[in-house]
Amino acid sequence: MPCEASRLIRLRFRGYGDDLARAAVARFEGDDTSVPGCTSSPLDARVWLSDWPARALAAPALEARFEAPASYGDPIPGPASPIFAALGALLAIDPLCLVLCLDGARGSIDATTWRSGLGLGDAALADQLALALFRALVLVTGALARVEPPEARVCAAERWLGTGGPSAVTALSRAREKTGDPSLSMTSFRHASTDGANALIAELERDPAVGVLLSSEATRAFRRALELETEPDELSAFEEPLFAWLARQLAEAGPRAPDAHVPPTDLIGFVCATEPSSMDALRTIEHLAACRDDRCGAIVRAEVMGMASVRRALVGPTATPSSWPVRAPGPLLVPAPPPSAPAFSEDEEDTLPRK
Ligand SMILES: [Zn+2]
Repeated sequence: MPCEASRLIRLRFRGYGDDLARAAVARFEGDDTSVPGCTSSPLDARVWLSDWPARALAAPALEARFEAPASYGDPIPGPASPIFAALGALLAIDPLCLVLCLDGARGSIDATTWRSGLGLGDAALADQLALALFRALVLVTGALARVEPPEARVCAAERWLGTGGPSAVTALSRAREKTGDPSLSMTSFRHASTDGANALIAELERDPAVGVLLSSEATRAFRRALELETEPDELSAFEEPLFAWLARQLAEAGPRAPDAHVPPTDLIGFVCATEPSSMDALRTIEHLAACRDDRCGAIVRAEVMGMASVRRALVGPTATPSSWPVRAPGPLLVPAPPPSAPAFSEDEEDTLPRK
């Protein structure tokens, strides 16, 4: 595995931009014995999925640029609005979905950055975006509670809203526990989770706030992301009204403290949060929704991109072709985007040197 390390480290830092990625690689490959935990090559490749690489190799440079905001008195209490609790639940399911939704609600999704940062083709990115929006809408509207029968509700929740990762096998074992039916077969689980996913889409269509915003393109995109159909048809853009709705909910919740930037090490820890519903995590979500110049968003984005790229390299390849609507990137809130190209292009993933 050590000979794979140089490839994995490049994937892990692909979202950070050239300079920082190069510095992290040099730090790892150099003989700087001050890097914690870096006295030998990691024995288990899964370490690249943790927050260790960013903490050990990127955080020093990020912290050096960080200016702690002035603070007065006690920290503000956690946000009370239920939308932050729903987004905390989304963080627990998949940080990538949360960061995509926050980016979308801020109107700053740049498809090129996301494609190259995740190493995904157009269709795979569109599916990822549809899954993120579907999960966010289900959580924010509370649609799951209205799904009947209970078996479909539990199986769909474990398949698509579970916190134990994307594996169908672990989702099945959790569903067995929750339904109290140890003999639930994989076939029955798949049927019930399909019924539950269809019911969730129907609930979103019925929802008085969201239903009118769901175009037929959106429901087709959801169906494809939830593996209810495999049609390779091109889909046109569907996400903007839904992100705009999410943005309105966040605005009504009144996120506070747009200048209270979060220390980089805390942001790195946030993506791997073991307690995604803690008040600290909800306060960070609240800040990310309002961050004045998106400097905090840039770090969490780089983290979820790097982790997703490493996960795919360890687990296997995904689909490629193309239905992502090509548009000019929206107005980025970053004041001074780096002039250079992203660290590694989407094509580079397959051409990274293998020792
Ligand atoms: Zn910030």
